[in-house]
Amino acid sequence: MKIIKSISALLEALDLERNLDKSIGFVPTMGALHEGHMALIEHAKAKADVVVASVFVNPTQFNNSADLTLYPRTPENDTKLLETHGCDIAFFPTVDEMYPEERETVAIDLGPLETVMEGKFRPGHFTGVVQVVHRFFELVRPEFAFFGQKDFQQVAVIRHMVNSLQLPVEIIPCPTLRESSGLAMSSRNMRLSADERIEAEHIYRTLSYAKTLVSNHSPTEVTELATRFFATSSMELEYFSIVNPDTLMPLTDNWVNGATACIAAYCGEVRLIDNQELIPYSL
Ligand code: AMP
Repeated sequence: MKIIKSISALLEALDLERNLDKSIGFVPTMGALHEGHMALIEHAKAKADVVVASVFVNPTQFNNSADLTLYPRTPENDTKLLETHGCDIAFFPTVDEMYPEERETVAIDLGPLETVMEGKFRPGHFTGVVQVVHRFFELVRPEFAFFGQKDFQQVAVIRHMVNSLQLPVEIIPCPTLRESSGLAMSSRNMRLSADERIEAEHIYRTLSYAKTLVSNHSPTEVTELATRFFATSSMELEYFSIVNPDTLMPLTDNWVNGATACIAAYCGEVRLIDNQELIPYSL
């Protein structure tokens, strides 16, 4: 595996691969890697000739400076994991190279995608996500890019960006990897105490409970019942929302294919998100 820290070295390495007609699969990450990230690497290996992973804690997508400071950073372990999972190029850029002063930021109207759920509670977050992913796409020029369904809204935002700008990259969403308890794997789980980790399992329990209610209740009713169920834990709920998977608009009276329950909650100081498809996308 090539470990690359500068843009010039990245472009050189990618040129070598492109000259051999190799397709490029790209997995952007913020590091503190775990098996969930490695599943994306495996998907990328199955689809593309060369797998590039980036490890970059993008400051522009954090609306809370404490969250940015406390975000876990484990570069040595990240390198080891990427290497053992067969990643070809690991790219660890610096903030200065990613965002040179003279560079203009891409501007895209995200419409309602930016004002619901994560967009509502983390203002500016998706502008930062679009900025960094666009920058990476420009540098890596991948044929395929792999994103986790765990960040459900992020997938919708990236797809919207790719469609708006007509970028020549296929976005491939990958299923969420979970601990055996159901807790979605996340870099932020490293910040949970042993007790909090057990408490956090209530997030997936709530999503699973919601799924059992679908056949007898409307989306509004499921939202109410699941919110009440969640309240039996000591976590602080930010939102529980059942949405249309394409528009991310909340569902009220009627179900649609792909209806998905999304949740965000604080477990102690740590903000966790998760989601669960309640109705299969294509029946
Ligand atoms: P992050 O490092 O948290 O920005 O995540 C990088 C990529 O890994 C994103 O596309 C995430 O959606 C994805 N990811 C994070 N956790 C998981 C998981 N448990 N299962 C699958 N993909 C994940």
